[in-house]
Amino acid sequence: MAGTYARETEVLVIGGGPGGYMAAIRAGQLGKKVLLVERSELGGECLNRGCIPSKALIHIGSLYRELTTMGDSIGILAHDVRFDAAKAQASKRAVVEKEREGVRLLLKSAGVTVLKGEARFTGPKSAEFSAPDGGRERIDFATAIIATGSVPSVIPGFEPDGKQVLTAWDILDLTEVPTSLLVLGGGVSGCELGEYLASVGSKVTIVELLPQLLPGLDADLSRELTGTFEKRGITVLTSTRATKLERNATGVRLTVSAPNGEASVLEGERLFLTIGKRAATKDLQLEEAGVQADPRTGAIAVNDRQQTNAPHIYAVGDVGRPPMLAHKAYREGVVAAESIAGRSTRYQFQTMPSVVFTEPELMSVGLTKTEAEAQGLAPREARFPFAALGRAHAYHATQGWLKIVGDDKTGLLLGVQGAGAAIGELAAEVGLAIEMGATVRDVAMTIHPHPTFSEMVQEAALLWLDEPMHVARRREHARTP
Ligand SMILES: Cc1cc2nc3c(=O)[nH]c(=O)nc-3n(C[C@H](O)[C@H](O)[C@H](O)COP(=O)(O)OP(=O)(O)OC[C@H]3O[C@@H](n4cnc5c(N)ncnc54)[C@H](O)[C@@H]3O)c2cc1C
Repeated sequence: MAGTYARETEVLVIGGGPGGYMAAIRAGQLGKKVLLVERSELGGECLNRGCIPSKALIHIGSLYRELTTMGDSIGILAHDVRFDAAKAQASKRAVVEKEREGVRLLLKSAGVTVLKGEARFTGPKSAEFSAPDGGRERIDFATAIIATGSVPSVIPGFEPDGKQVLTAWDILDLTEVPTSLLVLGGGVSGCELGEYLASVGSKVTIVELLPQLLPGLDADLSRELTGTFEKRGITVLTSTRATKLERNATGVRLTVSAPNGEASVLEGERLFLTIGKRAATKDLQLEEAGVQADPRTGAIAVNDRQQTNAPHIYAVGDVGRPPMLAHKAYREGVVAAESIAGRSTRYQFQTMPSVVFTEPELMSVGLTKTEAEAQGLAPREARFPFAALGRAHAYHATQGWLKIVGDDKTGLLLGVQGAGAAIGELAAEVGLAIEMGATVRDVAMTIHPHPTFSEMVQEAALLWLDEPMHVARRREHARTP
């Protein structure tokens, strides 16, 4: 790279998503000289093409459905309610731009230098930066943090084209609602975005290879969601394999094979391909830096300080260990930055919360009963219904339940799973309780404000203890002295 400009930095961060920007901010706060390179937009997938824009649209879709389905019954006479996809997009963009500006200001206040362009390794302690205008610079670094995220996985023959075959990123930018949509993949994005488009008028069919929607999540949660989807007219085909895709002038034809092996053809205006993601490490020239990645998945293995096999190079977020979640990336970013600054932080925790933003919303924290049994524990669960909660009635949100899993021997709280309104907001309370080693009785004795959805946690804990407040329990026989 003769004749190119060279920069020096203590910490080079490649990628400005949740993992990268959090690492850069924390390293900056701890006094390090930090350079962050981002080829697209600050905030990464989460802020620009994932968590935030999807929730902005899901919220709009949910309001629209509520107004069109229950307006009259609660005294809101909003007739001729219509959905304007282009305006919804404008609203979503405004949210994203505001958040992105927030990230820019946080980086600035931490003293981080941000370069727009692409970085790739040229040696163990050097990288090449290419700007969008073709300009190149050499970057010499003492340590680097790889935070390049992930890209949608593709099946040969099903390649996305941005028109008829769409990724989640394309779905989030749709300015019109397809009359019909085939969703290939019943994971989180397939369920969340499939439901959003169904709410605003698309005829949606979800095709999932495994026996349940949201594979890997508690089976009761999956059943609750599947039942609701079907009642709302979303077709759910599980244990179904897609074998062939044809594109024509009017839409797509998807050949699928049912559990009994019978083949059939589904037709739709568009196909949403959402079968998972793979680590984005292909263009980084990792071999120049001596960093190893899994040849199949692209993922980089890290230790509990986020170090790769090259100890001065760290990896955080989707590019490393699962799960691919923004809150996991945040934590890893902080651990990497603090490790570089000589602190003794570790990537260690009891529980990684998981929330699915459908209606009903789903939440899982800690162990399910099955997982606890597999660990040789003695789990017992108690399930409290939303229909027994005052707040749920006031908000016409009586669908769902929350179940507590506790250890019968020690009384320790092991996990909580639930489906229902705003249930994701309860994940942090439960997570804190598990992290602090709370017993189910500790949770039951904590006074929860009335009327709130958080009472679900206390009520389920009381039920687990066989001391319920708002579900009937048989009267104990008076013990005669
Ligand atoms: C539709 C959808 C909804 C989601 N909803 C949620 C949710 O509700 N909750 C949740 O926790 N997670 C959610 N996620 C997942 C979440 O977006 C990711 O887990 C998270 O963004 C990962 O953060 P990251 O920093 O590892 O990578 P990313 O956010 O992907 O950021 C990586 C960045 O690196 C940049 N980059 C890549 N290569 C280079 C290079 N060579 N040089 C410079 N820059 C580079 C990219 O442009 C990108 O900006 C969702 C994802 C999708 C698609």
